[in-house]
Amino acid sequence: MDYYSSEISKLIEELSSLPGIGAKSAQRLAFHILNMPKEQVDELADSIVTARQNIKYCKCCFNLTDQEICPICSDENRDHKTIMVVENTRDLVAYEKTGKYEGVYHVLHGAISPMLGIGPADIKLKELLVRLEKDVDEVIIATNSSLEGETTAMYISKLVKPTGIKVTRIASGVPVGGDLEYIDEVTLLRALQGRTQL
Ligand code: ZN
Repeated sequence: MDYYSSEISKLIEELSSLPGIGAKSAQRLAFHILNMPKEQVDELADSIVTARQNIKYCKCCFNLTDQEICPICSDENRDHKTIMVVENTRDLVAYEKTGKYEGVYHVLHGAISPMLGIGPADIKLKELLVRLEKDVDEVIIATNSSLEGETTAMYISKLVKPTGIKVTRIASGVPVGGDLEYIDEVTLLRALQGRTQL
């Protein structure tokens, strides 16, 4: 049974499709939005649409950015010969927050998962190999310690090894299956500093 007008139901439905938003939160948010001044709602809606339209992948590392090349890749003070491979932009942000990593990144946008039917061609792996044709000293594999993350790490190490470029894996110390973004900065730094050569 529908308690609300179809517009309100639609709003609640859309909100509850967002990660971490259950039916109750969606309902609360919907009524909050409906009680907001109209201008404020316009601004909120506008910022969502504008962000979605203008944000694209960095042509180099596939970080999300509103420029052709993201600020990390265009920073000349960073070490462009060290590439840290992460599964997603949130992991990149987690490492950036430590403020201690000076290399650059490569964002895969996923991990290999035979169970979900995600193969090597479905993530940004070819693009990584293209980058390795340039002058690179080290590839740090910082995928999650989940089954998918480990599978991806193995796959990358097999691809990179023949090139003679040093391949390392961040230390496990990072809880198994733990999403990198939820791990505190000290643990992340320890995992980075304790990385081992594959
Ligand atoms: Zn970039």
